[in-house]
Amino acid sequence: MSETLDRFLEYRNKMRQYGLAVSMLYWDLQTATPKKGVECKTEAIGFFSTESFKLSTGEAYGKLLEALSRPEEFDLLTRGIQVTVTREKEEYTRYKRIPQDFYTELVTLTAKASRVWEEAKKNNDFAMFEPVLDQMIQMTKQSAKYQEPDMDPYEFMLSRYEKGMDTKQIEKLFEELKSGLVPLLAKIKAAAKPDLSALKGEYDLNAQRQWQEFLLKYIGFDYEGGGVAEAEHPFTTSLGTGDVRVTNHFYTDDPINAMFSAIHEGGHAIFEQNIDPAFWNTAVANIDLMGLHESQSRFFENMLGRNKNFWIPIYEKLGEYMPQFKEVPLDLFYRVINDVRPSLIRTAADEVTYGLHVILRFEMEKAIFGEGVPTSRLPELWNEKMEELLGIRPETDREGILQDVHWSNGYFGYFPSYLLGSIYDGMILAQLEKEMGSVDQILKEGRVKEITRWLNERIHKNGSLYTSGEVIGNLCGEGEISAKPLMEYFNKKYSELYGF
Ligand code: ZN
Repeated sequence: MSETLDRFLEYRNKMRQYGLAVSMLYWDLQTATPKKGVECKTEAIGFFSTESFKLSTGEAYGKLLEALSRPEEFDLLTRGIQVTVTREKEEYTRYKRIPQDFYTELVTLTAKASRVWEEAKKNNDFAMFEPVLDQMIQMTKQSAKYQEPDMDPYEFMLSRYEKGMDTKQIEKLFEELKSGLVPLLAKIKAAAKPDLSALKGEYDLNAQRQWQEFLLKYIGFDYEGGGVAEAEHPFTTSLGTGDVRVTNHFYTDDPINAMFSAIHEGGHAIFEQNIDPAFWNTAVANIDLMGLHESQSRFFENMLGRNKNFWIPIYEKLGEYMPQFKEVPLDLFYRVINDVRPSLIRTAADEVTYGLHVILRFEMEKAIFGEGVPTSRLPELWNEKMEELLGIRPETDREGILQDVHWSNGYFGYFPSYLLGSIYDGMILAQLEKEMGSVDQILKEGRVKEITRWLNERIHKNGSLYTSGEVIGNLCGEGEISAKPLMEYFNKKYSELYGF
């Protein structure tokens, strides 16, 4: 090993330790910290994040990256380290283009924006959020300009979350979906709805926790390489090598929500748990492709979990954990978990309307960054689009433009990844069936782990080595991403379910 590589690995190790400290503290803050301890933990997160940021932007790091980029060094590196050097060098160059004062101002503004957003949402007061949101938009645009001066700012933002995707491609895919989803929704709206009252009742929290453990094991989550806890909102995080954690939130009056959150986060975690060990501690193990990540969680949640056959081998068991389900026939349960109706809140939306919620946000972001629509106009524009896409209109901004946390954090360009994930899933499902036969049959026979292993082998082990487009292209042997398979899946499933 060259001396430069030695020093590089040592440097990276230091960065990793700080990173791990931040993740552990964040995990603790979300799952265990009592109210009086929040300030101390937040301060520690600030401390370790700053140290970590200093290391990743330090001159010494820049020199190491430069040295390892020379062909005589670079060619000798493993694939994982090569990717790390290339990506980190790009990132380093971008960071260096941001003036220090500007950066500090942006960090301060982001912290403020999150607080103001929370207040504004609580009080249903967009006017309170408007000035900070406006500033966030301006500064995010400026930050993009600094980092990639030759690139359109919104394109840059999109590429942060889904490398290789641009507005034009996303527009084409979303238009394809929109023109299929809107009429499908109209047909569903006209059809008879299931009676949801059969599931009303009180469900034991411990039974729900145990059922989550059963479900996670059933789909292939590895308890020796991960763990679970409870938090306000479900999420997944990696705490260093060999430890992937998921959280959930349980409600006594709604066991279904938690079941599907468990399967969703389980999907994220299974992806992280199955990255090839050769890539551990390299940039490849850091999966920054949000569309691809979301495609895995949503594949487990929707393509598998909302398939009736998934439940056939385990439905009786569910009744053993929560006796109320003994009174609910599987057919009705299946209808309930696939109940489609327009609603105002994205995170509570069903599989069909979810796509329209994302399309709305993408159109909003294009209006903001492409057309320069003034911030004061945004709530009205939101409501108009809700009416156009879903046929309902929010009565308050809390249920409209103020509902998501993303923009207050500066995550512009993030939303499309959610729907891209589902679009990939349509293609993945079609390919899986081509190679393994009917998914219905596999699920019915309780062989879901065979599907998990197929995903491990074909997608998970490579981490973020390839872009999502490359992964799907390699998998499906088609050059282009298409929304057609997803639309076909929707049409088939829901026409059977609603009988049209
Ligand atoms: Zn997710």
